[in-house]
Amino acid sequence: MNYLPIFVDLKQRPVLVVGGGHVAVRKIDSLLKAQAQVLVVAEQLHKTLLSKLEQGEIKWLATQFDESQVKQVYLIIAATDDHSLNQRVFQAAQAEQRLVNVVDEQPLCSYIFPSIIDRSPIQIAISSGGASPVLIRLLREKLEALIPQNVGLMSEISARWRYKVKQKFSQLTQRRRFWEKLFTNQTFQRLTENHQAEQAEILLEQTLNESNEMIGEVSLVGAGPGDAGLLTLKGLQAIQQADVVLYDALVSDSILELVRRDADKVFVGKRAGQHSVPQQETNQLLVKYAQQGKRVVRLKGGDPFVFGRGGEELEVLKQAGISFSVVPGITAALGATAYAGIPLTHRDYAQSAMFITGHLKSDSHHTNWDTLARSNQTLVVYMGTIKASELSHQLQKYGRASNTPVAIVSNGTLPNQQVRIGILENLAELVENAETPALIVIGEVVKLQSELAWFGQQQKQFISTQETLWQTAVNY
Ligand code: SAH
Repeated sequence: MNYLPIFVDLKQRPVLVVGGGHVAVRKIDSLLKAQAQVLVVAEQLHKTLLSKLEQGEIKWLATQFDESQVKQVYLIIAATDDHSLNQRVFQAAQAEQRLVNVVDEQPLCSYIFPSIIDRSPIQIAISSGGASPVLIRLLREKLEALIPQNVGLMSEISARWRYKVKQKFSQLTQRRRFWEKLFTNQTFQRLTENHQAEQAEILLEQTLNESNEMIGEVSLVGAGPGDAGLLTLKGLQAIQQADVVLYDALVSDSILELVRRDADKVFVGKRAGQHSVPQQETNQLLVKYAQQGKRVVRLKGGDPFVFGRGGEELEVLKQAGISFSVVPGITAALGATAYAGIPLTHRDYAQSAMFITGHLKSDSHHTNWDTLARSNQTLVVYMGTIKASELSHQLQKYGRASNTPVAIVSNGTLPNQQVRIGILENLAELVENAETPALIVIGEVVKLQSELAWFGQQQKQFISTQETLWQTAVNY
């Protein structure tokens, strides 16, 4: 961080402005808005400044700058076109440890003015530290359009009611929920947009008098396969409102960064070399937090109902009488194949797709190998790398062609996504040392990958004989 952004209270504090031209006018305008006591040093004053002088809004301290003038002020601005004078002001300020800004001369600034979006009392200040003013201007325009005009009034009203709300709700969580409920109330939004402050405050009082009993709830949220952009809007809302988030290893860092800063984040997954938190313990935690009246998010990789044990967790909540909701996510089979350029179905190659888990029992009569081995369908295998050899063997035994194209997609949708292409016969070798999480895709649609790959470096990490294996697959 090159600069520390702070908001300074300048009320009645003396600020020295050296220069009396149009640049000084701009700066003085902002200073007066902040209710500073403006002292100007300039040979001549711009007409706007002259009228401000007449109104008693500013003070004309002297016509010449003198080093001693910096001693009596809090902050200094030099806005002259005389470089050597600017330099003198800078040096004098430095000598007295005063903050100084020489307009448009960054090396002569110990503080800089950010670009401001003013919805007082809400203010947003942005800066690139001088690196890219144009980019900052464009960003400011975007933010101006994005931030509703009524947030200022909302904030003023909340300042007036803060104390009463605090009296009613002793706990921070209760207060936060009250304010969230009010600020997201559409009538309240409309009233503040129309500047109907009085009615808005009546609504606030009504909301305050309603029972605000804290009832805990759990939202089971699918985080998608990794790329934070694939999180749903509902999922984002849920993690932004949560008091506590229980997440597992498949949830990417970029998604965790979107969780509300002061929410408790509890890891309940499996870390390398360690055992995962037993499912029962996770279930108990969910119940415990919800019974404390908290808003709990159970955040899972992909979709919670696809090989995610989401159903089991909800059954436990149901038994404990805790209310819950489910926010679906993009499951790995959809995300990883899309980012790898493998369509799951295709009119010529696959009329159906099946998602299966690799934790199959090969001898089990539950596994219908006949069905799994059918051609013209895409088979997507979750958690399949360990059983790859078995899978390859059984599928061939039950009739799937040994040169059926296969793909291993590791870290799907993430910047380090890797795609390996081969054929069914060599699935076990292809899987060797593949990074996890990895998905196995089996079917003729994999042929399209070489043409449709679009994401990342489109790297194909071929194992030694890969080139020839791929040729076999293409000629299939
Ligand atoms: N509920 C999750 C799946 C959990 S099972 C979902 O809907 O996606 C875990 C398996 O999912 C992993 O073993 C792997 O096969 C697959 N997986 C999850 N994320 C993945 C990713 N980003 N890339 C490739 N495979 C992934």
